[in-house]
Amino acid sequence: MDDVTIFCADQRSVTALVQTCEKFGKASGAKVNCGKSEAMLFGEWHLASSAPFPFTIKPDFIKILGVWFGKEGAALKSWEERLAKVNTKIGLWSLRHLTIEGKALVLRNEVLPVLQYTAQAWPPHVTVCRAITRTVFRFIWGSKMDRVKRSVMYKEPRKGGKGVPDIPTLLRAAFVCDCVRRTLQQKNGSAGRSMSRLFLLPLWRGLSWDKWDSSIPYNWHTPWFYGGVVKFVREHQLEGLKPDLWKPKTVHKLIRAQDSMELVPGLAAATAETVWTNVASAKLTNGHKDLSWMAIQGGLPLRSFMHARNLCKTRYCPRCPFVEETSSHLFWQCPFAQGLLDALELELSDCVPRNRLTHCAVLYGLFPGNFGDEATREAWRLMNCFKDAIWLARNRLILKKERMSFLDCRRLVHSLLRDYSIMDRSDQEEED
Ligand SMILES: [Zn+2]
Repeated sequence: MDDVTIFCADQRSVTALVQTCEKFGKASGAKVNCGKSEAMLFGEWHLASSAPFPFTIKPDFIKILGVWFGKEGAALKSWEERLAKVNTKIGLWSLRHLTIEGKALVLRNEVLPVLQYTAQAWPPHVTVCRAITRTVFRFIWGSKMDRVKRSVMYKEPRKGGKGVPDIPTLLRAAFVCDCVRRTLQQKNGSAGRSMSRLFLLPLWRGLSWDKWDSSIPYNWHTPWFYGGVVKFVREHQLEGLKPDLWKPKTVHKLIRAQDSMELVPGLAAATAETVWTNVASAKLTNGHKDLSWMAIQGGLPLRSFMHARNLCKTRYCPRCPFVEETSSHLFWQCPFAQGLLDALELELSDCVPRNRLTHCAVLYGLFPGNFGDEATREAWRLMNCFKDAIWLARNRLILKKERMSFLDCRRLVHSLLRDYSIMDRSDQEEED
């Protein structure tokens, strides 16, 4: 009898319910605590004054299995509670230094599960979806300002995105999938099925899902929480999906499959895919994946970017007067970058000659000629360590007014390369 919900049609049923419980109590020695039990009255109830109502009457809302039900606003109340929990969780995770990769993982494995359960009872309102999205991107960027378009962030890494889970879409999908499965798949007899069919069958007809059965009751006055279901199906062009494929993960995958490839300026679409695969390579650390990706997608807080948003007085490179600080300047054209590449000539000679190096190698991992997979992988790692050193030197110069020499930077590159060889060795040991 723990956490049981019982529907009673009138006060006589309530009295019968109490009597049944008492009878059961006498036989088993267990006792129902009526004072702790709650009731909610729907419609008109004329309570008899002779027999007091045995349960605490809740006027507005009642919580059943962790979700609020009752008068209008129950859904929002449930979501507000969940969002508060999410904010606490994200607040704690924000204290750590995480890469975007790491944050996407936290969102998928720590944040989404907190919300998924509620989404089965109540689909999230537009306002709730907006609040979730705001929280997600504040967490990702560590500030109110986004540095890359949200639609790009949601795309898969091999299409130029960061694979950030689109939580509102996943939650809406969870609700829709439940509705579809309940009404089109489940066998007769479940209460949830009959209730959902009452309101959803007329909607399904609108989608020409020919499961129309007018022998069972149906209702055209659909409550608001079912209203978004058809909208979701149409929005994502899922009309043709077979009933057994309606699973949130499958639906989300299909939605992501509709994403277009992010283009890299100056490169053909086919090459763009290679670039994104390089950037998201499992052979790079998460930090380097982020840095390489941001250098292309404009996610780095460079002066040209900050100046355009009125967040920086100058848009010029700290080393080159009157030359705009863009990522291709910082990592390639800037004399400091060229000087460091010269200093790395020896390291480069293992994979690609210094004089054949182009900005495509540094930024995109596209090397001239064919050096074989392993040499190319090493070269791409070296390029990432180089960019890491350049980025660190740039930040030290701007934030601390410290100048790093080429020798300092080269040492840094060496220590980063050493980290990679340690990473390889532990991978190897795991395999062994
Ligand atoms: Zn410069």
